[in-house]
Order: sequence, then structure tokens, then C-alpha cells
Amino acid sequence: MIIVMALEATPEQIQAVVERLRSIGAEAHVSEGQKRTVIGAVGDRGLIQQLPWEAMDGVERAVPVLKEFKFVSREFQAADSVIDVGGVPVGGGHFAMMAGPCAVETRDQLMASAEAVKKAGAVILRGDAFKPRTSPYSFQGLGEEGLRYMGEARELLGMPFIAEVLDPRDVELVSEYADLIRVGTRNMANFTLLREIGRQEKPVLLKRGFTATVDEWLNAAEYIYKEGNHDIIMCERGIRTYEPSTRNTLDISAVAVVKRLSHLPVIVDPSHSGGHRFLVAPLAKAAVAIGADGLLIDVHPAPETARVDGEQALLPDDFAELMDELRKIGNAVGVTI
Ligand code: PEP
Ligand code: MN
Repeated sequence: MIIVMALEATPEQIQAVVERLRSIGAEAHVSEGQKRTVIGAVGDRGLIQQLPWEAMDGVERAVPVLKEFKFVSREFQAADSVIDVGGVPVGGGHFAMMAGPCAVETRDQLMASAEAVKKAGAVILRGDAFKPRTSPYSFQGLGEEGLRYMGEARELLGMPFIAEVLDPRDVELVSEYADLIRVGTRNMANFTLLREIGRQEKPVLLKRGFTATVDEWLNAAEYIYKEGNHDIIMCERGIRTYEPSTRNTLDISAVAVVKRLSHLPVIVDPSHSGGHRFLVAPLAKAAVAIGADGLLIDVHPAPETARVDGEQALLPDDFAELMDELRKIGNAVGVTI
């Protein structure tokens, strides 16, 4: 249940609702917006719904939420969330291009990629120090050394960076360095990790699990939000279907579905969706056209030597060309890229 307070509700009236909720064993999550206060009630649904909330002074309306997730829903917050990533706004009309290598391999490889994406107009650098690999024998990332190189690139280019965290024990380390923490597709339902990430302060990019429904994905975001971290960006990166010609099937409609259900920004990763270089541009264009709030794109200075995902990485020149094309689509749909 979401209890929407009237514009003129007093602090005492808000407190009375909170106490009423507590008296029936429910939790009250108070969100003070610019205009009005909204209270999310979590607890025994039947018990909460049977009380006459609208009869209490200062309450404008009580809205039952049919979905399990509450705080990330549009009912809870009608306006789009705008997430600040190291000074770069994402969402609510602010489009963010995030690009760089899939993995940090060497200092030189990272710098070459970072300089190229910055020059082409990317605003957030991507590059992982911890890689989730299907095979335990594949390159697993440079660890803290990789995060240090990312930090150097940020200082040099004035560009915040995003990096994945795989293990709850590394959350502190990654959040010390990175401006945006990424939860990968394999960890979307790792609730221990989600809780841990919800307790630190850096914004979070939550990828969709490759077998997750939109509801499950939004519930994963709810785990993070409920722990106190409200700065969440959703990332559609394709789901596993019976179609083998692409690495995953980009569920482009999920962008519009999530934006309808939730106030959180939604971006698209066309690199991990398609899994092939030739698919990155068409999928990226579709994402801009449908209203995504940003893109996450693999760019490598020499993809043929890449230790991870070379087949889907764009060359710097291809990325610059794509940026030009995306700007045209952005102009047509009223988005500045
Ligand atoms: C990535 O972005 O490098 C990555 C591993 O993505 P996903 O978790 O979507 O596979
Ligand atoms: Mn990758």
C-alpha cells in the first residue's frame, strides 16, 4: 500500500500515519518529495488494506500496489528519477552514453579505449576489473590493479566510471573506486549481493537476469532500494531464448514496459545482447528510438586481441561513427546525445 499525503499535510499528520502503521506491525518508508510526502507501507497486506487510511487527517489517498515491488514503482513516485553518476545525470530526459572495453586488460589498452570514447562523446567509462566468466579457466580480470587504472583514466579525462562487482566481499573495494557499481546478469538474483550493494552509497546499474521476467528484475531493484540506496539504473541486456543467431534476444519492449511500471531510468546494452559487432549499431539505434536513457557499449582499440568479448567490441572509429548516427535519431525523438 502507498499512502499519499495531501499537499498541506502537517508533520504531525505524517507521524500519525507512521505510528498507525507501526502499531499493526508494518514498516513505514517515508519519502519526502518536493511537493508532497508519500509513505510506503510494508507488512501484512490484508491487515494494511483493511484500515481506513483515507479517513485519517492529512491523507489524500491510499493506493493498493498490486505488484510486489513498491518503492521502484510509478505509484510510489510519478516523476522520473534522475541519477547522479559522479556529476553526470542519467534519466528524466538526460541520456548517458557509457562505453569502453569489456575488461581492463592493460593500462595502455584501457587508456586507448578511454580516450577514444571520450573524444567521440561518451560521458561514462566502462571497464571491468572482475569478470564473470562461463569457464573458470578464462581470464577473470585484473582485480584491484584494474580499478586503479580506471581511477587514473577518470582523473586524466574527467570521466566517471562503471565497474562490475561479483562478490559481496568486494563491494567495499569496488565502491571505493567506481562511480557506478554494476550488478551483472548472472547476479541479478543474488539477494545477498543486492542487499550489500543497497547499503553502500554509490549508484547502481542493475542488469536484467538473462532468464528474469520484468517483474523479477524490478523486485531485484526493490531489494537495493529497500536497503536505502535509491540510485538505481536498470539495464536491459537481452534474455536467453531459443534463437541462436544472436548471443541473447534484446527485449526492446522491456524498455517501454519498465518505464511505464517504474520511475527508474532504463538503459540498453546492445553489445552483450547481440554478441556480434554488426548488431551493435542497429540495436543501439532501436534503443534510442524507443526512449532508453542511455547505452552501454563495448569499445576496444584492437578487438582481435581482446581477452574478453572481442567479437562484439566496436573499433574506436566505428564507435565515433555510431555516435553521429545516434545523434540524428536523438534529434528526431527529442533526446540530446
Ligand atoms: C558486461 O557488461 O561486461 C557483462 C558481463 O554483462 P552481462 O552481465 O550483461 O553479461
Ligand atoms: Mn563482456
